[in-house]
Amino acid sequence: MNVRFEALKTAWAHLPKEINTTHRASVIFSQNVFTRDKMKEYIASNIVEELFDLMDNERTLSRDIANSVAIGMKKWAMEQGATHYTHWFQPLTGGTAEKHDAFFDFDEDGAPIEKFSGSVLYQQEPDASSFPNGGIRNTFEARGYSAWDPSSPAFVIGDRLCIPTIFVAYTGEALDYKTPLLRSISAVSKAAVEVARYFDKNVKRVYTYLGTEQEFFLVDEALYNARPDLMMTGRTLMGHYASKSQQLDDHYLGTIPERVLAFMTELEQESLKLGIPIKTRHNEVAPNQFELAPIYEEANLSSDHNQLLMSLMEQVAHHHQFCVLFHEKPFGGVNGSGKHCNWSLGTNTGVNLLAPGKNPYQNLQFVTFLVNVLMAVHRHNGLLKASIASATNAHRLGGHEAPPAIISVFLGAQINDALDQIEQADMDKGIIINAKKEMKLGVGNIPEILLDNTDRNRTSPFAFTGNRFEFRAVGSSANCGASVLALNAAVAEQLNCFHEEVDALITQGEAKERALLSVIKRCLVECRDIRFDGNGYSEEWQHEAQRRGLDTETSVPLMIDQYLKDSSVKMFGSTGVFNQAELLSRCEVKWENYSMKLQIESRVLGDLVINHIIPAAKRYQTVLLQNVLSVKQVFSEEEAEILNKQDLLLIRRIENHASAIVARVDEMNKERAHANHIDQQRERAIQFHDYVVPLMNEIRDHVDDLEMVIDDQLWPLPKYRELLFIH
Ligand code: ADP
Ligand code: MG
Repeated sequence: MNVRFEALKTAWAHLPKEINTTHRASVIFSQNVFTRDKMKEYIASNIVEELFDLMDNERTLSRDIANSVAIGMKKWAMEQGATHYTHWFQPLTGGTAEKHDAFFDFDEDGAPIEKFSGSVLYQQEPDASSFPNGGIRNTFEARGYSAWDPSSPAFVIGDRLCIPTIFVAYTGEALDYKTPLLRSISAVSKAAVEVARYFDKNVKRVYTYLGTEQEFFLVDEALYNARPDLMMTGRTLMGHYASKSQQLDDHYLGTIPERVLAFMTELEQESLKLGIPIKTRHNEVAPNQFELAPIYEEANLSSDHNQLLMSLMEQVAHHHQFCVLFHEKPFGGVNGSGKHCNWSLGTNTGVNLLAPGKNPYQNLQFVTFLVNVLMAVHRHNGLLKASIASATNAHRLGGHEAPPAIISVFLGAQINDALDQIEQADMDKGIIINAKKEMKLGVGNIPEILLDNTDRNRTSPFAFTGNRFEFRAVGSSANCGASVLALNAAVAEQLNCFHEEVDALITQGEAKERALLSVIKRCLVECRDIRFDGNGYSEEWQHEAQRRGLDTETSVPLMIDQYLKDSSVKMFGSTGVFNQAELLSRCEVKWENYSMKLQIESRVLGDLVINHIIPAAKRYQTVLLQNVLSVKQVFSEEEAEILNKQDLLLIRRIENHASAIVARVDEMNKERAHANHIDQQRERAIQFHDYVVPLMNEIRDHVDDLEMVIDDQLWPLPKYRELLFIH
């Protein structure tokens, strides 16, 4: 029985599910979330006020309050059908973790009750020794704490109440993505408030906003199950691209197939109930590739929502006999998936600090923040790249369809022009800026900046898009917290330096606007090299970027070194986001993760080619050989020679590929064994990158060639044309 054909039969029988009656978004939104309105309803009013106050002002929660909150939360959750509760956290595995406990308990008299106390809401001690920790916590010190993050509301999924928590070691070091993200949000707020107050004394807090665009592929479940590589590694380790792929650009923004729409509709409804403000859905560039984007929110919440959305997607896809692929590059030669992180800063007074304002003063504020972001990205471009680097995202970067493995900033002609003019202006003569029409303005005046939104560059990893930056290099499977916290920390450090420098000038007697402008001018010169509006895919850019001193490293294990550079340690330390031990542990986890991913991939590849591909090749070879023999029996020697010519060539071709594959699998196994014996995580990862990956690529090339010549009836794995075009 050919597994592939069995799977195809099943896949073709999967008809679209009926689209369920949909409910109005405004009605179901946050239905399953313990929102502030519900808190008011379920918690005593004096406690609620205190809770809101600490949520708004980043104060610590007391146990007394936790107890009163727990009573209300339990009541609400049980009304939604919850029987269990769980802390919901984001360990460095990349997913989310839950351990369910029932409300069920016994009271002092031994009678069964439903119980949920403040202490379990407040803090738990999951036996967390088996989560990645990069050596921070040895097993004898296995305790990790998860503690409630009141800035992200609790929610009910199915039968359980989920409480978003941070996850830290017994000694206080972060073991998750949320803890450092929260620290970075607070660091950027403190630093940005100081700078924003040059313009408005009412600014007391600055929020980080994040809007994620989640790209993904859908594959029919039956076909997925017939591809061991997809099941075990999340991507196809082999597969010749289909004759028709994305070259006609006929999928992007096309009509969403009915079966996919049914999935999306159900997903949207479930997301809305959980307070995830899903807004946009569309087909992406590659066949079977799609995107979902919620409305932006405060970054901590948005990041939680992205994690939640990803797990919901997996669940709901299953209802529709789909598997969702978050891997950055599930199909070679086909567009990969990213998670664009739209990032901005906004004040408690409702001003977006990255949106050009209506008057020159607001524009000076806009330019101030814009330039500080440029400076931060310039100074830490290598680190930002490290923050998106992973074994899986490595396939996407530099793949000529995604941002290159170099971080630069796209600003668009107009903004670049305005910045150039500020940089070159003679302050004593006043700044003259030519925008659409010439404007002559005094010092401190910046023209109204007209935004040309059509001016977009898809090849840039970090683009200004009118009122925010879009960090496009982030991988689709990543926890976006990892990149956002690096960006926040870098911007916080830069704003602190900027503030110090401007204050020093003011102390020396310089007027505020002049002080701001002169520091801005200096910064513009310093960070000029990070600005690049050209084609990021081009060969020239690689050379140019190198000349500019930008980080052009392409090996993921070496990119990770950036976390331990002096400038990074200093930056993370001064902003309080990571101490050195935490940075070391993150690196260890990243290297280990890299090696483990490749170890699994290379094992699966070895098994697949030896157990599936080579036997199929041999079977076809036997058919051909028998044919050659039969021809010889029937025809004269001369005739047989002519008739057998093609078959003999083909037999040799198959033989060449097969023996090359077997030899390389052997070599790959040796290199892998060598890697596995290296103790140092960094060196092990480098061994995988330098010696195992090239062999995997070579093996794949041979297999893909075989796929083109072997009888389709004998090919054991679903092909790209089947995986990518079944709806
Ligand atoms: P595109 O595909 O054109 O880049 P989308 O509409 O798919 O845009 O996604 C844009 C994302 O940016 C959405 O999540 C949106 O809410 C978010 N966004 C819009 N304005 C801001 C902002 N000021 N700060 C952060 N995110 C924003
Ligand atoms: Mg989009």
